[in-house]
Amino acid sequence: MDKKGLSWFESIQAQLDEMASILGLEQGIQAILREPRKELHVSIPVEMDNGEVRVFKGFRVQHNDARGPFKGGIRFHPEETIDTIKALAILMTLKSAIVNIPFGGGKGGVICNPGEMSIGELERLSRGYIDAIFRLIGPDTDVPAPDMGTDPQVMAWMMDEYSKLVGYYSPQVITGKPLSVGGSVGRGDATGRGGVYTIIEAAKRLDIELSTTTVAVQGYGKVGSNAAILMHDILGSKIVAIGDIKGGIYNKQGLDPRKVKQHEIKTGSVIDFPEAESITNEALLELEVTLLCPAALENVITEENAPRIKARIVAELANAPVTPEAEDILDHNGLFMIPDFLCNAGGVTVSYFEWVQSLDKYYWDVEEVHHRLAKIMTKAFQDVLSESLKRKVSMRKAANLIAVARVAEAMKARSWVSGRP
Ligand code: NAD
Repeated sequence: MDKKGLSWFESIQAQLDEMASILGLEQGIQAILREPRKELHVSIPVEMDNGEVRVFKGFRVQHNDARGPFKGGIRFHPEETIDTIKALAILMTLKSAIVNIPFGGGKGGVICNPGEMSIGELERLSRGYIDAIFRLIGPDTDVPAPDMGTDPQVMAWMMDEYSKLVGYYSPQVITGKPLSVGGSVGRGDATGRGGVYTIIEAAKRLDIELSTTTVAVQGYGKVGSNAAILMHDILGSKIVAIGDIKGGIYNKQGLDPRKVKQHEIKTGSVIDFPEAESITNEALLELEVTLLCPAALENVITEENAPRIKARIVAELANAPVTPEAEDILDHNGLFMIPDFLCNAGGVTVSYFEWVQSLDKYYWDVEEVHHRLAKIMTKAFQDVLSESLKRKVSMRKAANLIAVARVAEAMKARSWVSGRP
């Protein structure tokens, strides 16, 4: 619940209402946008390794497909809720629209703890989930992907199960697959890389020289580590601090992010990296750096610590790391924000490339993936920046306005509300 007592889904509905009113959208468009088109609740029986049958609850939510098939990840998480899945499905509609790829928005989830399940149990759950939702998904209707708690192996099981049910090999139904079954090169680092392309544009706007920039990164998983390595290798930026769930490390002279990754793989954490001193995650966020990349989890910058954030740019690689109240403070203090659904849209963009390649049965090389990703992320950033300057609103509001307007335009063109466009 937020400060007004609204759930995450309700607070996103309230944001949509605000955008609809600024854009002067018809009542019908606004009413359709507020609700998912479909919401499926399923029970998935799974035989556990000890012979017991457990029934897991799962969901698939399809929010809007005005611009193309529903698209969104499948989460395996012990605290999953339908409210979160509905909120994330709306965010996927907006994210696909902001990078202007022909997808709508959806999301799925199963209440389970993948960390406590064996490989066999996970495979049976993944296949059972597809058995339960397969009539809803398909290459031209709804294309799932990995998300929290799921990975390429889970996608391979799910794709295989779907292929068995329809009777033919169908890699185009799901993205984030291993390369051997129709995955795309360049998917692994796509979210971090896409974020770096938006950071390059933000630096140009603020006249910041990235080769002399200091950077702090919170979260050293798939997104944070790839972004840090790219900024270090391609741009020459100085990564002075890195944190993960166990704590942080700091070196004023700069860290070698590849060496830190090796250390993290070997020891399970970035902490105790020999060429650095330790720092808390709270202090990491408040360092005097040019660029701060929260790449771990939501709500880490709040009303409480926002006044102490000294970075010039905050690149939201994670989903929702800055609360709305904190964002007002950062805006007031003149910090430049790259909002999450723009900054981390590189993942869904390369998922789109994977879908196109699987449909075509023709696979691109990594240079082509990088080139096309850079083009899309750069254009999306510039669209949002122009809107922000034109309307004198924050980057997040500008991104929301563009995304909602694009979805509404498609709904109007398809005459989903009365009359012709
Ligand atoms: P991941 O699981 O690979 O890595 C998460 C990292 O965050 C780990 O280093 C972990 O130790 C750290 N972390 C967890 N809790 C922490 C805490 N309390 N304090 C500090 N660090 C903490 O996850 P990921 O795929 O890198 O995703 C990171 C964020 O990016 C998430 O918000 C995710 O929703 C978002 N995101 C990811 C993708 C993607 O393609 N992977 C796409 C869009 C958005």
